[in-house]
Amino acid sequence: MLVSEITKEGIQVEMDRLGLSESVPEIFVFEELGSTNQWLIDHLKDDQLKLCVANVQTEGRGRGGRSWLSPDGGIYLSFNYRVSPHISDFSAVSLVIGLVLVRVMRSEGVKNVGVKWPNDILIGGSKLAGVLIETKKINGCVWLVIGIGLNTRMPDSSNLPEDINWADLTGQCIGLDDRERLIALIFNECNKAMLQFFKEGFGVFRDEWMRFDAYSGKSVNIVDQGKVTLSGIEAGVDMQGMLQVLSGSELIKIHSGEVSLRINA
Ligand code: ATP
Repeated sequence: MLVSEITKEGIQVEMDRLGLSESVPEIFVFEELGSTNQWLIDHLKDDQLKLCVANVQTEGRGRGGRSWLSPDGGIYLSFNYRVSPHISDFSAVSLVIGLVLVRVMRSEGVKNVGVKWPNDILIGGSKLAGVLIETKKINGCVWLVIGIGLNTRMPDSSNLPEDINWADLTGQCIGLDDRERLIALIFNECNKAMLQFFKEGFGVFRDEWMRFDAYSGKSVNIVDQGKVTLSGIEAGVDMQGMLQVLSGSELIKIHSGEVSLRINA
């Protein structure tokens, strides 16, 4: 039995309460799904904005084929946009969505929450949420699928892999019963930010993103397929969302691609 099931009706009530007038999504909620991103990718056809939510993901995914643990008690959602086929780089989208998650968490009274380039949300240095952006081309149309996994309450940690440095919202003023409200809020805020991003680009979000950058000024490594390819001081992001690393006196820009950012312990 699920700890406290998220339902379509519950999300709908919360969306109505928020007074969403434009960009109302079609909502799909599942007790269990392989991956909400995959479900959306399999159901892309028209311009309709869809929001897919699962109580549990059995094949939740992160970047580069890594997996995202998605037990009962979390928030797993995806939504989609049809985008211009002329834009090929959506790497800044995960930064925009990460920033929105930080805004929402802070508005809910969660402290010490920050962004980690390019796609994670940390609380006290551990991973609270992750963002996965995928694109799919069908008959010349390009779709952007945005996935979010957020740990509300993780189950007994003895059942989780030891090497995952996760955090959840235990001890914060958000409980399992707040998830439908949070989903409505997260979707609404992400959608507003995405519409702004499509018009104005990442530049308008950059300063705020930098304010919440958890690794700002820290000694970091860039890791590519398990190998450290660059070490230096993390110096925020540029107007396109590329990471800036100060290596000696040189400011090097890194495209998110498949590299990972790690603290140089
Ligand atoms: P990092 O650099 O922190 O390893 P990444 O950006 O390389 O992250 P992501 O795709 O963001 O990788 O996330 C996948 C990774 O997140 C997994 O390999 C695992 O270490 C970790 N992880 C998986 N599930 C969760 C979860 N529910 N909460 C926190 N961390 C998780």
